[in-house]
Amino acid sequence: MSRHSKIFIGLLLGAIAGVFSNFFFPATPFLLFTQQYITDPLGKIFLNLLIMMVIPLVFASLSLGVAQIGDLKKLGRIGFKTIMYFLIVTTIAVTIGLVLVNLIRPGDYLPEETKTKLLLTYKGQADEIKQSTEKTEFGIQTLVNIVPRNPAAAIAKPNPDMLALIFFSLIVGIALTIIDKEKAKPIINLLEGINDVTVVVINMAMKLAPYGVFALIFSVTSRFGFELLVALSMYVITVLVGLALHQFGVFPILIKVFSDYSPLLFFRKIETVMLTAFSTSSSNATLPTTIAVSKDNLGIPSHITGFVLPLGATMNMNGTALFEGVTVLFLAQVFGIHLSIGVQLIVVLMSVLTAVGSAGVPSGSIPLLVIVLTMVGIPAEGIAIILGVDRLLDMCRTVLNVTGDITCAAYITKTEGFELKK
Ligand code: ASP
Repeated sequence: MSRHSKIFIGLLLGAIAGVFSNFFFPATPFLLFTQQYITDPLGKIFLNLLIMMVIPLVFASLSLGVAQIGDLKKLGRIGFKTIMYFLIVTTIAVTIGLVLVNLIRPGDYLPEETKTKLLLTYKGQADEIKQSTEKTEFGIQTLVNIVPRNPAAAIAKPNPDMLALIFFSLIVGIALTIIDKEKAKPIINLLEGINDVTVVVINMAMKLAPYGVFALIFSVTSRFGFELLVALSMYVITVLVGLALHQFGVFPILIKVFSDYSPLLFFRKIETVMLTAFSTSSSNATLPTTIAVSKDNLGIPSHITGFVLPLGATMNMNGTALFEGVTVLFLAQVFGIHLSIGVQLIVVLMSVLTAVGSAGVPSGSIPLLVIVLTMVGIPAEGIAIILGVDRLLDMCRTVLNVTGDITCAAYITKTEGFELKK
């Protein structure tokens, strides 16, 4: 049986078992025990096994990717195309979200008592997020932090500063193309060795994927407040319709037009990536799989996967940006705050920028979303209203985030004169 079929079965069984437990013995000691001592730790161990390799992988593949591209002019061209692609396609995603939220106006459907109840229920969590964002600088300091004073310190924290790591890796890669070839050789060999080691470790971890995915999905569905889904249905539908339009409308057009490739075949080839993204809710945890699948199934050259995909896992988040745009406007509607076209344009810009800055981990965008809310004058505690359904939306938006990275790698492949594997 193929790997993605096994993962899919794990996902399906996890969802069935979780929903069943949620309905038939919600919050019983047995279920709480199972969650706390079996499925939560198993899911976390699986996620950690994947995320554990992300820092060495990003460093090795990005600096190697740059070194393999070889000349700075070519690097500049590929870099420019990649960043432009990220920014333009992310802007398209937010625009879809904003058009939908203005048409559907999900905020008008939320009853006052549900709003009050949600604000109360999730107040603790919302306060914690608010406090954490008070320490987050987003603005000129974010820009300064991209150039790390101490790269080791930038990554030695629970939420590593990926933009700083990216910058450092790019600079090392550039330097490798400038120094004497003989001197660069041992370093390049070492980086290739690190890359190979991460591939082996990830392959081992992915053998556990069906079980890890079962545990992750069970943990989510067995706790999920399904009644919340009903209360917030118009909002959830707006986000999901937006995501679906981008995933099944915009991406296929881009794949067809820019890569001259069958969108259906493309989706079939990246099934494992989409399933991993959906079950882990993390672009970072999915990155090793994204790289492997792009090389093996789509035949994307390694200097392109090595360059575009690590950048994309952090900077290119189409689903996240769309979700952010919809959420900001939804909460404005809930609080009866009118946002003019000018302010909505600021929301577009900020959604794109914060999606670039969001960490590729579960709910990585929430702290930055709070910053955008505050910026446009919406009470930050309003985030409490959507926290209960965030995991479900996160699973879906992460699928778009990684699919977007591969569509960009495919576009670069084609425009650089290579063919994709049919
Ligand atoms: N979970 C998303 C990702 O890893 C980030 C987010 O939208 O919170 O791509």
